[in-house]
Amino acid sequence: MRKPVIAGNWKMHKTAEEAVSFAAELKQADLPGEVEAVICAPFLALPALVEELTGTGIGVGAQNVHFEQQGAFTGEVSVPMLKAAGVTYVIIGHSERRAYFAETDETVNKKVKAALNGGLIPIVCVGETLEERENDQTKEVVRKQVKAASAGLSSDEMKKTIIAYEPVWAIGTGKASTAEDAEEVCSFIRKTVADQFDQQVANEVRIQYGGSVKPENIDSFIKQPNIDGALVGGASLNAGSFIQLVQAAK
Ligand code: 13P
Repeated sequence: MRKPVIAGNWKMHKTAEEAVSFAAELKQADLPGEVEAVICAPFLALPALVEELTGTGIGVGAQNVHFEQQGAFTGEVSVPMLKAAGVTYVIIGHSERRAYFAETDETVNKKVKAALNGGLIPIVCVGETLEERENDQTKEVVRKQVKAASAGLSSDEMKKTIIAYEPVWAIGTGKASTAEDAEEVCSFIRKTVADQFDQQVANEVRIQYGGSVKPENIDSFIKQPNIDGALVGGASLNAGSFIQLVQAAK
């Protein structure tokens, strides 16, 4: 059985101090052990979150990482730096990074490899734009992104990797995909992983849905056989609603 993962992606929100008060609320909550809960915060909030959440079972993740270990890359942060700070997950290839920061399938693949080599769990984002969906290219786009992101990984590495299916048109718009459409794409992603690796790897890899997930619609996604949790933006900024999402995912 795959363990569901609810990951909050705070994007460019919250100071370290705000993260600490969020963590204090989380620690008061009764969170189900059968769900993996993760907060992906801005770099500056990560050390404080690690300090607050160590020992609680709630994971801490970054939202980006560089693929080199160190060097002349002004403004970047490496996998060993995140590891040293106690971070365990990292979002890679979010559509905002692809659209605004020139991330490509190639850099996504390098980052996924660097993360796995350094002991971080990558949450790799894939998903089509509205135009691609309207042109019936969803599966083609998603297959290309999944194959490129996971190129050269061993089966064991692939099993550890989390894939987040986030249709770009559903992000931050309040217009979530229907659960049935999301299930169709997530099931197609699993098939793509089976073709590229094997059925056993595909059965173990976790696939999240992301895009306007909130407490009111999480149940419909969680019920789907190929959806193993959610990557949540806006609704993860409020501790109460994040707690509800985690509780709903068991
Ligand atoms: P929203 O939940 O705000 O739509 O954002 C989704 C997302 O981009 C998570 O990575």
